[in-house]
Amino acid sequence: MPDLPSFDQAIAAASKLAAAHLANLPQRRVAQMQRAAAPAPPDGGGFDAALALLAERVAPWLSASPGPRYLGFVTGGVTPEALAADWLVSTWDQNVSNAIGSIAAELESVTVAAYAQVFGIAAGMHGQFVSGATAANLVGLVTAREWAARKTADQRATVFAGAAHSSILKAMAIAGIGRGQYRAVATLPGRTAVDTAALEAALQQHRGPAIVVASAGEVNTGDFDDIDALASLAERYDAWLHVDGAFGLFASLLPTLSARLRGLERAHSVTVDLHKWLNVPYDSAIAYTSRPDLQREIFAASSAYLGSDPDPLHFTPENSRRLRALPAWMVMATRGRAGIAEWVAANCAQAQALAEGLAASGRFDVLGGVHLNIVCFALKEGDAAARDAWLQALNAGGEVFMTPTQLFGRAAVRAAFSNWSTTQADVARILAAIAATP
Ligand SMILES: *Cc1c(COP(=O)(O)O)cnc(C)c1O
Repeated sequence: MPDLPSFDQAIAAASKLAAAHLANLPQRRVAQMQRAAAPAPPDGGGFDAALALLAERVAPWLSASPGPRYLGFVTGGVTPEALAADWLVSTWDQNVSNAIGSIAAELESVTVAAYAQVFGIAAGMHGQFVSGATAANLVGLVTAREWAARKTADQRATVFAGAAHSSILKAMAIAGIGRGQYRAVATLPGRTAVDTAALEAALQQHRGPAIVVASAGEVNTGDFDDIDALASLAERYDAWLHVDGAFGLFASLLPTLSARLRGLERAHSVTVDLHKWLNVPYDSAIAYTSRPDLQREIFAASSAYLGSDPDPLHFTPENSRRLRALPAWMVMATRGRAGIAEWVAANCAQAQALAEGLAASGRFDVLGGVHLNIVCFALKEGDAAARDAWLQALNAGGEVFMTPTQLFGRAAVRAAFSNWSTTQADVARILAAIAATP
């Protein structure tokens, strides 16, 4: 008989392993570019042995992605209170598919409403937690598709965007709009924000239903489309406006940047990720739309044994799901907007400091400007192979982790600051690691 722990024993043992991990998170190698093979689960053997196997053969090979110097993609960490709340989510194990018999679904609703206020999303918008911005973009686009189908049943919608995230194309494919219906509109010179005049010209010529996708925080440079202007165009040309604000909506917390989101309250659907800049654990995002009636047409899963309106399962792809709202509720309740704004502002300042350091070194060009928390840069000399070799050397050092991209025809590197625990001392360490690269 294998040893089977009680809840108390299991929690205590996991807590010990977690504490050891958290204690050396800022010191450990940021990314594990070379690692041992993952152990398959043994066919039984008891809890202690299983946990020991994780401690020996898995934990050492994890990245320090929740730590302060992981700048790949846009990857937030986890605050202590968010971690505590997430443990409670699993402990409580509520299913938010329905609103019957538990306060859980209502807790999600009040959390969705609180964050709508933070971001400046119209109060009447319907919001629900989903697994990430990709799923939120899917909810937005599928709802837009349904809106378009009511205009002309025989024509698929066309999506217009300057520099949409790749998840928009994925969402288009899943939604049945099709990747081929994407129209790339010119961006402003030296920027990744859409050229509003070019978008107007494209909409003017277009026949059939149109969806405009605005970027609030473009993933290479953090740049913003002119949402207010796009909302006016959407009105004039009867288009659906979807705003992908996966991380950029956090600009609403900073007086110096909140104007970049003007017009957001006029969007028909909005995406925001919380597992990025809110620093709650994976997976967490909110999909807001102005047309829950259309969402219901698509996502309804009515059955005699399931609940009825307004149960959450009728509005997003999932039926059963965990109480994702709790960590987001907890961060707000613990720190308030002012507390969240502190690390958002600090991350933006860190991006500026990195960009200045890179420019001062004379080896790099910063591309597209630093608009928020991301620095996109390229070696002054060299092609994609040179960039790959340089980035590999940097990441292999273990001090920092960054990811490659392509911008304005150049092989580039992205560094995105979105961690609550990053400091200017980390920026100094990162610049030192860069200075040490060949
Ligand atoms: C990260 C990101 C996405 C995809 O989000 P996931 O959480 O990975 O699903 C979509 N849009 C933008 C702008 C993003 O930054």
